Amino acid sequence: MRYDESSPPPPESASSVSPDRPWYTRRSTLVVAVAALAPACLAGWVLTEVLGGGTTDDSRPPRIVMPLASTSPAAAAASASGSGSASASPGTASAAPSAATGPAAAKPLAGRTVVIDPGHNPGNFKHTTEIDRQVDIGTNRKECDTTGTTTNSGYMEAEFSMDVSQRLRAVLEAKGVKVVLTHDAAKERPFGPCIDERARIGNEATADAVVSVHADGVSAGNRGFHVILPARVRGGSADTAKIVEPSRRLGERIAGNFARTTGSAPANYLGSGTGLVVRDDLGGLNLSTRPKVFIECGNMRDAKDAAQLTSPEWRQKAAQGIADGIVGFLGG
Ligand code: ZN
Repeated sequence: MRYDESSPPPPESASSVSPDRPWYTRRSTLVVAVAALAPACLAGWVLTEVLGGGTTDDSRPPRIVMPLASTSPAAAAASASGSGSASASPGTASAAPSAATGPAAAKPLAGRTVVIDPGHNPGNFKHTTEIDRQVDIGTNRKECDTTGTTTNSGYMEAEFSMDVSQRLRAVLEAKGVKVVLTHDAAKERPFGPCIDERARIGNEATADAVVSVHADGVSAGNRGFHVILPARVRGGSADTAKIVEPSRRLGERIAGNFARTTGSAPANYLGSGTGLVVRDDLGGLNLSTRPKVFIECGNMRDAKDAAQLTSPEWRQKAAQGIADGIVGFLGG
């Protein structure tokens, strides 16, 4: 049996016009019917109110079934035919604001705080003595800060991390998040901050999430991103017991969204393809009391990764992916 999908279905709509009965004839009939019914309905409504004692029980359904004041044929026909409703009338359309346009929807994360930690500082190269000073990270002692890496053409990791951090701040602030940077190019300090101070800034801000932005510097051919999660450590002023689990959730969100927005793959040289690595040797994680991760966005020493890291468009995608991960973690 042949079935032609291009054939239109037979007219079944109740509103379709019958060819042997013009529309004005049908409407005239309805108007007459409504005119005849209106007094009976009005009488019934009055009777119901009287017998009901005029209570104000909100649970009762509305009783008015006929537009008493309206003599419009169109309104009467719509009501009588059941094909219309009060809300379909232009004069009674709902004016209630949509939840999507309310202030709460526009700023879903108002009141939340995120600390962004741009890795390193462009001035660190000129302050090696200062940044080599040892600081206490609870479990150990470590250099105050490091210079970070560069691409083969000299683009500094510190420049990259600051640029992505500023883009990330803009995305989050647009959602109402209060954003604190551990240091800012707008009023850059000569070097640092030290890693213990970077952690302290997140702790003192009682941040809901902290992300330290970096790029890696390993041999060419090693590609992709990875997110570093805090290991469970305890020693001195370091105790990560309470942040291990939420930090993992934060890191997983960021890794998934970063892969989606940038198209980058998880690192092919560590993390077994998960894009997640746990470390116990980073002061910035060990000293944190807030959910915190590092992200190594790519390998600056690999030409293909470097081509991405030096692209402003790619860095915007990177910031968007990190932001999406944070927003997801915060439930926004
Ligand atoms: Zn770094």
